[in-house]
Amino acid sequence: MKKDKFELLVEQLEQIPSIGKKSALKIAYTLALENKILALNIAHCIEDAVNNIQRCDICGGISQSSICDICSDESRLYSGVLCIVGSPKDILVIEDANIFDGFYLVVDERDSLDFKVMITNIKLYDIKEIIFAFSPSLASDAMMLYIEDHLKDENIRFSKIAQGVPTGVGLDNIDRLSLTRALESRIKI
Ligand SMILES: [Zn+2]
Repeated sequence: MKKDKFELLVEQLEQIPSIGKKSALKIAYTLALENKILALNIAHCIEDAVNNIQRCDICGGISQSSICDICSDESRLYSGVLCIVGSPKDILVIEDANIFDGFYLVVDERDSLDFKVMITNIKLYDIKEIIFAFSPSLASDAMMLYIEDHLKDENIRFSKIAQGVPTGVGLDNIDRLSLTRALESRIKI
């Protein structure tokens, strides 16, 4: 039997991370009945985003073209300070807090840990300091050690954002003040 259209919408909404059955029902009701204009706007935005948003070739962040706005800004790209984050979302969080004027690299499950490329970039952009802005976990500690070890001959200062960022909590769940403090009082490693 063909599925009920409303049920189908609820089912799809439930696939979105952090949306449970109850929220999915509520959202589906709003979209399908209460506010059809909002629903069509959202549908249009989603389609537009899916078709036009990609990962930046340099930093791996979210971008509308092959090079993002941050990497297109030479004053940032040649600032000498690189911030390594665990997810493209973390760039948005740090940018939103307006506390950093260097550039970024996303190191995630992607093949972004190509040290040959990384070393070329370090020379190309004259990187003097690398700040790790990972949320604390054993995996991120291991990642920092691994990167540091591979780049130990490159004459770079390494630091990480200060504790105060709780273990296992994503950067997007930290308030702006804590994030600012964590970045300002970064620790040399
Ligand atoms: Zn970029």
